Amino acid sequence: GQGLMAGKRGLIMGVANNRSIAYGIAKACADQGAGIALTYQGEAFKKRVEPLAQELGAHIVGHCDVTDPATLDDVFAAVAKLWGKIDFVVHAIAFSDKEELDGRYVDTTRGNFQKTMEISVFSFTDVAKRAEALMPDGGSLLTLTYYGAEKVMPHYNVMGVAKAALEASVRYLAVDLGGKGIRVNAISAGPMKTLAASGIGDFRYILKWNEYNAPLKRTVTPEEVGDAGMYFLSDLSRGVTGEVHHVDSGYHVVGMKAVDAPDI
Ligand code: NAD
Repeated sequence: GQGLMAGKRGLIMGVANNRSIAYGIAKACADQGAGIALTYQGEAFKKRVEPLAQELGAHIVGHCDVTDPATLDDVFAAVAKLWGKIDFVVHAIAFSDKEELDGRYVDTTRGNFQKTMEISVFSFTDVAKRAEALMPDGGSLLTLTYYGAEKVMPHYNVMGVAKAALEASVRYLAVDLGGKGIRVNAISAGPMKTLAASGIGDFRYILKWNEYNAPLKRTVTPEEVGDAGMYFLSDLSRGVTGEVHHVDSGYHVVGMKAVDAPDI
């Protein structure tokens, strides 16, 4: 095969539809010759993921809800059966109760705090542990984060706390797995209109604000995050681990943001 991902095979978790960041990454990898396995969360998503898998020439390895470890076991068993070993895993999964992505962080409930951390943070470590067993020759793990981990962003609340923990996990996992040649990185993506983002209040305002203030004067697309993701999963990034890489039109470097945007 040809392409930067020729001969590589990996599992991509988090495709909900064709606007998902995970889909952007899957497309970039498929275009470069990677073999791809996809999961879906529940029957409702299965119908949407099937045509996408077909388009990408990807395998579907089953339903996975990261709060149910048996479904993770099943998915990794299916991948092991399919390929024996793998080269990469993408974790593009997050969840928090919509109600709490509004109002004050201080009002976060114990139940939603735990659920948000389990789905958005622990699941990456849980996946990494399973991936390690299928990566005897090394590999690359990638997760998705957001600037709300570093700075307080309106409406991000408990998800910002979760992303901070996720970014710390990337560093701890990079050390734990580095000796086996397994690299662990995150992409900190700028805001994009996906299904997950629809739970965040005033999202159109956040997009406008980013457009106005980012050095590139625009927001980013799942295709752009997909290309950067492909770099992390390919050998081009073989010297890189423990990194949180911003694909956000440069928004994070701007210290003094202007407020007089014409449309804000
Ligand atoms: P999306 O809705 O397309 O993807 C989110 C995925 O998480 C879905 O496929 C959903 O099925 C999955 N998921 C949620 N709970 C799950 C569970 N219990 N078990 C298994 N899967 C579960 O949205 P997206 O924006 O592509 O999100 C992907 C990642 O990118 C998330 O981690 C998100 O926080 C991150 N991110 C998004 C943006 C943005 O603006 N859209 C910016 C930065 C980071």
